[in-house]
Amino acid sequence: MLDDKDRIFTNIYGFEDAGINGAQKRGDWDGTNKILSLGRDSIIETVKGSGLRGRGGAGFSTGMKWSFMPKEIGERPHYLVINADEGEPGTCKDREIMRHDPHKLIEGALIASFAMGAHAAYCYIRGEFFREAEALERAAQEAYDAGLIGDNACGSGYKFDFYVHRGMGAYICGEESALIESLEGKKGQPRMKPPFPANVGLYGCPTTVNNVESIAVVPDIMRRGAEWFAGIGRPNNLGTKLFNISGHVNQPCTVEEEMGIPLKELIEKHAGGVRGGWDNLLAIIPGGASVPILPKSICDDVLMDFDSLREVQSGLGTAAVMVMDTSTDLVRAITRLSAFYKHESCGQCTPCREGTGWMWRMMERIAAGDAESSEIDTLEEVTRQVEGHTICALGDAAAWPIQGLIRHFRADMEKKIADAKAGTPQAGNPRAA
Ligand code: SF4
Repeated sequence: MLDDKDRIFTNIYGFEDAGINGAQKRGDWDGTNKILSLGRDSIIETVKGSGLRGRGGAGFSTGMKWSFMPKEIGERPHYLVINADEGEPGTCKDREIMRHDPHKLIEGALIASFAMGAHAAYCYIRGEFFREAEALERAAQEAYDAGLIGDNACGSGYKFDFYVHRGMGAYICGEESALIESLEGKKGQPRMKPPFPANVGLYGCPTTVNNVESIAVVPDIMRRGAEWFAGIGRPNNLGTKLFNISGHVNQPCTVEEEMGIPLKELIEKHAGGVRGGWDNLLAIIPGGASVPILPKSICDDVLMDFDSLREVQSGLGTAAVMVMDTSTDLVRAITRLSAFYKHESCGQCTPCREGTGWMWRMMERIAAGDAESSEIDTLEEVTRQVEGHTICALGDAAAWPIQGLIRHFRADMEKKIADAKAGTPQAGNPRAA
C-alpha cells in the first residue's frame, strides 16, 4: 500500500486551495528553474530512468517517447500536446488533477516542453469538462502573472506558453492523431501512421502527445529523483497511479496507489468493498471500457499493473476499475458498450465502420436470445477480423470487450439463447433465472 509520504497528488479531493498559493505550499513550482538548468538531455534521462510509462492507456515509456523528438530545432517549431480528452467510459482521473491540482500539470508541461524544445503546450480538454477547463485556465493565468510561464518562464530565459483548447466530446478525439486533427480545426479522424507525430504532428511540426497524469507526475520525479519513483511498484511497472473505482462498490472513488497493488486490496481498502461482500462479485473491467472483462476467479489475486493484467488477457488501460456484482446482466452490459463503440466509430475504415455496427447488432440479438449458439463463434470470428485491421485502436477497443465476454461468460450468452427458445421469460440477469 502506498505510503502517504510518497503521494504525488496531495489535493486530489480538493480539500485544499487549488490556486497558486495552495499549490506552492504543497511544493509545486519549487526549484523549477533549477530543474530546467539541468538541461534537456538530463531531464529526459531522469524521466526514462524513473520507468514512467504513459498513463493514458498504452503504457509506453514516457522518457523514450520524448527522446523521439528531433534533437535539433529546425524551421518547424516543436509542440507538446496534452491529451485531456478522458473519454474512456469509467475514467475520471485526469479531471481530478485539472480541477484540484492544476499547477502540477502546468509545471509538468513546462518541464516536458523544455526537455523537447517546445515553446508551446496545448492542453486539449474534453468539452464537457467545463469547470475543469475553467480551473486550468485560472491556474495558467496565475502562473503567467507570477512569471512561472511566459516569456521568461521561472526566470530561466525560456519562453513557454500554455493553451487550453476545449474539444466537443467525440471519443475518437482521445486518439492522439485525431486529437491533433481536431486541434487544427478539422474533423477529428485518426491519421495513418507513419509518419508519427514526433516527425509530423500538430501543424506538420514535431509533436509529442502525452496524457495529463503522465505530465503531472514529472515535477515530482524531477524533484525527488528517478530512484524514488522507480522504488515504488513492481519491476517494469513503476511508480504511483491514480485508480478510479466505480460500479457495485460501497464507496466509488479515485485514489492514488502504487502500481501493482492487488485488485482485491484496492477495492476493499479504498472503495469500501464490493456491494454485498467480495463473494458477491461477478466480474470486473479493470481499465476502462475497452479492456476485456475478468471473472471473479482472476480478480481474486490479479495485480493492477500493465504486465500482470496483460498476462490474464486484459489490460491496465486507464486504470478505471468497473465493478459488477452478481446482479449484473453481463451480456446486456457488454452490448451497451458495443453500442457505444458503434456510435463513436469515425467511419474512416471499413472493418471498424461496418464491424462495430455488425457486432452491436449481433450482441443485441444474443442479449434478446434471438440467435443460435453457433453464432457466438461467428461473432468471435468477426471480432478477430476487426482487431488489428484498422487505422486506430478503436477497432480493437470494440472487439476486446466481446472477446472477454465470450472467453469467460459464454455460458451466460448461451443461456440467454436457450431461455428464449424454451420460452422462459428473460429475467435480465441470466443467473437470476
Ligand atoms: Fe475511425 Fe474506427 Fe478506423 Fe479508428 S478504427 S480510424 S475510429 S473507423
